Amino acid sequence: MRTKGIIVQKYGGSSVADPGKIMGVARRVAACGKKGYDVVVVVSALGGTTDELLDLAGQISKRPSERELDMLMSTGEQVSVALLAMALHNLGEEAISFTGAQVGIITDSTHTKAKIIDINTARIGKELKSGKIVIVAGFQGVNLDQDITTLGRGGSDMTAVALAKALKAKMCEIYTDVKGVYTADPRIVRGARKLDGISYEEMLEMASLGAQVMQARSMEVAGKFNVPVHVRSSFSKEEGTMITKEVKAMEDVLVRGVTANKDEAKVTVCDVPDKPGEASRMFERLAKADINVDMIIQNVSRRKATDISFTVPKKDLHKTRNVVEKAVREIGAGGVEYDENIAKVSVVGIGMRGHSGVAARMFSALASEKVNIKMISTSEIKISCVVGKKEADRAVKAIHRAFGLGKGVRKS
Ligand code: ADP
Ligand code: ASP
Ligand code: MG
Repeated sequence: MRTKGIIVQKYGGSSVADPGKIMGVARRVAACGKKGYDVVVVVSALGGTTDELLDLAGQISKRPSERELDMLMSTGEQVSVALLAMALHNLGEEAISFTGAQVGIITDSTHTKAKIIDINTARIGKELKSGKIVIVAGFQGVNLDQDITTLGRGGSDMTAVALAKALKAKMCEIYTDVKGVYTADPRIVRGARKLDGISYEEMLEMASLGAQVMQARSMEVAGKFNVPVHVRSSFSKEEGTMITKEVKAMEDVLVRGVTANKDEAKVTVCDVPDKPGEASRMFERLAKADINVDMIIQNVSRRKATDISFTVPKKDLHKTRNVVEKAVREIGAGGVEYDENIAKVSVVGIGMRGHSGVAARMFSALASEKVNIKMISTSEIKISCVVGKKEADRAVKAIHRAFGLGKGVRKS
């Protein structure tokens, strides 16, 4: 056992994409141990692996069993933890790798998006005590029947945050291929600015709305248990972004960031009879099928019928079709239309709570780029607009500019 406490470090797929990068990660991990910390490392699959595995499954079956998908996808992380352990051994470090099941990460049985219900930290504690660096496969756990589960895409973030909470770690460091959390995806907006700090709530919203840098669900857990998270680069020593509880000064900034989500599709059910209970029947079924319905808009009723539009994740469109088409027949609606060529662009900021005019500024930024708005939804700290998918990047850049979020621009 070292003296300074525990640090959980998580390295994402692009940080361990090849042997050279894995060696680089090993050097960073070893350096952290040398500073006197007990290090628990969470690793993702080598960059692109999970997608390749999913693609393989798709070549065998159109709709593979979710239990078998978990069995398949979890293999990616098993490869990277073993390789990182070997790399650390090469550096003369004592290190040991584990699967999620081996370190007691117990989840429910919702395959492909399981929730962690408990972590038994005894094994990790024992290995740390004996002076070892502990390496844990991200993204995976095991249910009470010993079936392997996965925690949803980007789920290694969840493994890291949950372990940091369970081990009472000093810090949960998320190492990735950008230097922190930016005002917009730095790959889309060249002038995006790295944030020094962001609140759990804002990061949760940004992640849910498309900022892939953190898995949204991991932010719920971090916020609930106040786990300090530091998002930073695997390839530089620079400080990144601290994700923490909200502090007063954070409210001074109107908009923290702009996001785009291109992974949703819009469903419009036409001529739904305008009677109490009709819509609820359809949404109950969608919920039962575990489909996450996002924006919902009901138009004004004409001639005792109304149109209802909503968005769902594109990956659930097949399931959605089955449920909705059955519901359409049952409730006697006119028909259903699907639009996969959409994107949701959003602004997020806790500063919006006390200010008006954010929506107007966002809409006028879109109008100035001649981007047509198809749907709008708002909450206390975010505003989202559905636009055409092709226009999404242009829309994000225009909104980013309109709120003065770029480098060298005064924070608005
Ligand atoms: P990892 O493999 O390390 O988990 P991810 O690909 O999941 O990395 O997340 C990092 C990516 O998130 C970045 O490469 C970046 O393009 C994207 N991203 C989207 N929005 C943001 C944002 N606001 N700030 C930082 N990165 C973002
Ligand atoms: N390998 C998994 C994914 O690609 C988990 C992760 O990278 O966090 O989603
Ligand atoms: Mg990720």
